[in-house]
Amino acid sequence: GAELTAAELARADEHSAHNYDPLPVVLESAFGVWARGIDGVEYLDMLAGYSALNFGHRHPRLVAAAQRQLERLTLTSRAFQHSVFADFCEAVGRLCRKDAVLPMNTGAEAVETALKLARKWGYDVKGVPPDSAEIITFADNFHGRTIAIVGFSTDDEARGGFGPFPPGFRTVPYGDAAAVAAAITPNTVGVLVEPIQGEAGVRVPPDGFLASIRALCDEHGMLMIADEIQSGLGRTGHTFACDHEKVVPDVYVLGKALGGGIVPVSAVAADWSVMGVIGPGQHGSTFGGNPLACAVATEVVGMVESGEFQSRSRELGSHLHALLAELPGVGEVRGRGLWAGVDLPAGGPSARTVCERLLGRRVLAKDAHEGTIRLAPPLVIERREITWAVEQLADSLQSS
Ligand code: PLP
Repeated sequence: GAELTAAELARADEHSAHNYDPLPVVLESAFGVWARGIDGVEYLDMLAGYSALNFGHRHPRLVAAAQRQLERLTLTSRAFQHSVFADFCEAVGRLCRKDAVLPMNTGAEAVETALKLARKWGYDVKGVPPDSAEIITFADNFHGRTIAIVGFSTDDEARGGFGPFPPGFRTVPYGDAAAVAAAITPNTVGVLVEPIQGEAGVRVPPDGFLASIRALCDEHGMLMIADEIQSGLGRTGHTFACDHEKVVPDVYVLGKALGGGIVPVSAVAADWSVMGVIGPGQHGSTFGGNPLACAVATEVVGMVESGEFQSRSRELGSHLHALLAELPGVGEVRGRGLWAGVDLPAGGPSARTVCERLLGRRVLAKDAHEGTIRLAPPLVIERREITWAVEQLADSLQSS
């Protein structure tokens, strides 16, 4: 088992770029919250593909939707319309309560799409002088890995060595509405915000922060762009993390779980007053909105609309957070619903070490930066599985 895993990891290392440092496990199959390694061990997945697997691995409804579509039509490009496209756009628009949807594939692409949309809206509707639009972003953000996006990252590892970067972004401290207000100029076209910062360690902003951004955007004619790629689709106990403050952004950016853990699907949703600025030839993607993606994502929307996953996340999330609050030997615990960032005290084992120990106890979890363990299981997890996972965490904090 262990030798097979080591050999397979070495083979991957030999032939792949070293842009990740994965935990030493090689998975070969999975269902629901359990994944099997080539070592024959069954692991409890407490990461859920960074929220891409909100409905668990290979949810039968999603697999069936994918299989039905595989038998019919998988790709047309957007040169031709296909029979699942309207269903998908209508469904995502309905979920977001927005007029129109622009489909892409990955999260970073959808964020780029939202940034382009905001700039074009700024020039066409707000009347900002050419090439001078500004967008406000936040320290410790994570929106993906493209050049524009890493350009406004504050993480040296993410941006170092990749410049020059596109101008037009102003970064202010997360959670600080006064800093947002101070950064606004007549050329500010939008504010790009994670309603909860995921990669930064599941950082929940102070109450009222999102509502303040909403108010500033209304007051100054700017678009509030919510990156709900990791926080959306049930993760926090509501459909969107913005729902906690009853805030409706102008632009939703969705990804990850939208593809049900089966296909990469992302989307931007906005009303026509915004989406209307994009015309033919101005943006697109060969795979964006392909039939297979649309079939799976339409089914995902149906599942989210049932409300079942949001209530699971709320109820089981309070169980998870109650257990974590009692856990000895940890620092701050943050999060909402089935999503937690657990800080480890300085001087103890690193988050990476604890995740390696968890792996040895059959739990898949991942560190977020050095000192934080992130827990984000599929929303189909059972109460007793959460209890067991937190017991493994408690043991992993004690010793190897
Ligand atoms: N935005 C947020 C909030 C994310 O958490 C992520 C991925 O972790 C992304 C964007 C980028 O998504 P992708 O990796 O699909 O490009």
